[in-house]
Amino acid sequence: MTNHSNFTIAVLAGDGIGTEVMAPCVELLDAVCAAVGGFTLSWNHLDAGADHYRRTGVSIPDEALAAARQANAILLGAMGLPHIRYPDGTEIAPQLELREKLDLYAGVRPIKTFAGLPLPLASPKAANLDAVLVRESTEGLFAARGHCQMDGDNAARDTMVITRHTSERLFDFAFELARQRKAQGFAGKVTCVDKANVLGSFAFFRRIFDERAERYPDIEANHCYVDAAGLRLVKSPWEFDVMVTENMFGDILSDVCAGLMGGMGMAPSADIGDQQAVFQPCHGSAPDIVGQGKANPIATFLSAALMLDWLGKKHANKACQDGAGMIVAAVAAALRNGQLIPYELGGTAGTAQISDAIMGQVEQPVAASLK
Ligand code: ATP
Repeated sequence: MTNHSNFTIAVLAGDGIGTEVMAPCVELLDAVCAAVGGFTLSWNHLDAGADHYRRTGVSIPDEALAAARQANAILLGAMGLPHIRYPDGTEIAPQLELREKLDLYAGVRPIKTFAGLPLPLASPKAANLDAVLVRESTEGLFAARGHCQMDGDNAARDTMVITRHTSERLFDFAFELARQRKAQGFAGKVTCVDKANVLGSFAFFRRIFDERAERYPDIEANHCYVDAAGLRLVKSPWEFDVMVTENMFGDILSDVCAGLMGGMGMAPSADIGDQQAVFQPCHGSAPDIVGQGKANPIATFLSAALMLDWLGKKHANKACQDGAGMIVAAVAAALRNGQLIPYELGGTAGTAQISDAIMGQVEQPVAASLK
């Protein structure tokens, strides 16, 4: 499928601002590719999402799913629109189907703040956050999606699923990540976030975490109940290194983490399996700002950086990893002087201005310094 340097990327721009942030992201990746050399990217643009469902009755066609499977990586914008729903009232969410169908169990949500942005926490420590939330992405409470048991109009029951197989892989992923980060100077600590004091499913989750922790004696392992984790994320998020949690808790906490970074438009993600991976911003299609040029593309750019890093590690291509570093450095350089404040953080910089500023850093100083 790959010759280690020529990569096919399936692009699912999706709905709403997904298309607005994906266009400059593809341009940025082309520029990074040209600046670094050593790898090529070819694009396979695929149609899927809520609007596709409205037009065709299908959220993601089989051919698009097959093409995504064939690609070296999948880059996704955003999917779902509140006014387009399945007959049972739930939103169209092919991104969740992709996670389940491609077995992308490890949802990586970096929590990284950039200097130059107004952030919600006043402490100087909050301006230097660098942690990762790992969200299980194929089971947990989301496994109940489409299987809600209705008792007439009197009760509704959704069942949470925690399996040993997925939990073991998830925890191993989190410990390996902490180990890689420790080699870069981070704490080397994994915190299991659960509700083991109330639910048997979470007691099982924690027991498997403790079992796997024994295999990583060089990494500190501890636990935190999800309610306490919410408190600590707001009061002292710098205490965390790698956090690992169930799907629904991860969904909620990753928005808290996005808030710590300044907003949804700053938060990237990667959903990683043993073979494939999807890279997308944490945000949704943001219908409230669509068509206004206000969407912050940085989360998508940082997701593209995660993609290059993953491709580089998977295929032993250092140029790809350099490309990832170039994107992060370009974002940091563009924001550093405090003049580029996205709309969602109270500023006036929209999609075009932010994209131009970051593209300028790739084409000029950052590229020069890496060569
Ligand atoms: P979903 O359930 O599909 O993840 P959501 O309900 O979490 O979506 P979002 O679409 O992520 O909602 O939007 C949440 C809020 O954040 C909205 O006010 C939206 O305008 C804002 N927002 C999301 N993404 C961005 C972005 N890239 N730039 C600016 N604002 C954004």
